[in-house]
Amino acid sequence: MSTHIPDVLLARLLTAQRVTAFTGAGISAESGVPTFRGNEGLWKKFKPEELANLSAFMKNPDLVWEWYQARRTIIGTVQPNDGHRALVEMEVLFPSCTVITQNVDNLHRRAGSRNIVELHGNIERNYCLSCGATYDGTDLPHTAGVPRCTRSGCTGLIRPDVVWFGEMLPEDEWEGAVRASATADVFFSIGTSAVVYPAASLPLTAKQQGAFLVEINTERTPLTPSADLFLQGVSGEVLPAIVHAVRERRTP
Ligand SMILES: [Zn+2]
Repeated sequence: MSTHIPDVLLARLLTAQRVTAFTGAGISAESGVPTFRGNEGLWKKFKPEELANLSAFMKNPDLVWEWYQARRTIIGTVQPNDGHRALVEMEVLFPSCTVITQNVDNLHRRAGSRNIVELHGNIERNYCLSCGATYDGTDLPHTAGVPRCTRSGCTGLIRPDVVWFGEMLPEDEWEGAVRASATADVFFSIGTSAVVYPAASLPLTAKQQGAFLVEINTERTPLTPSADLFLQGVSGEVLPAIVHAVRERRTP
């Protein structure tokens, strides 16, 4: 609890009705989720953008599927961290709290957050390219390569329910994200480089609509000059400190 939480933020939080947290790769990295851009063994010769797109999947579905299976295996070994858990506590602390995440690793859900907008999908979910039937990790047919749809008469390819390069964000999720941003009293941008549009526009939307914009990051980003407050550090330390400070002020 060494992070100092400025009074200006506490004052906002003590009267906030709606708090929105927007998370990116940084909070996952704190749990040990790799970016898949480094030297991860078998897959190091591929760039994510070479595998995470529809034409790569159509050309070599087994290869792309195996890459996602490898990612799922790694994600299965990591745990949500104190940053994820502090956001779960915020659902209790504020009348309305929404997590908008760019991460596909399901860690917010595993931590216990319930009000989540998954802008880029969720690696634990899948769907059939032909009929749209959904499959979660547990009801997938067991196959060596890419599984095929088992719904009657359909043998379509099953793909991960994640947004690939070149694909639009899911409309419902995007609208939910814009709504949660535009109505926020306090908006936290957490562990995101804030450069990938359209998602990067959400903190600015929040600010334009009157939110107090707080950035939590280990380093400054293009968003930092627009933030009302920049808290430098990891989410696993800063977010619990915020929750702690709000609790302390509220206790009579
Ligand atoms: Zn199908």
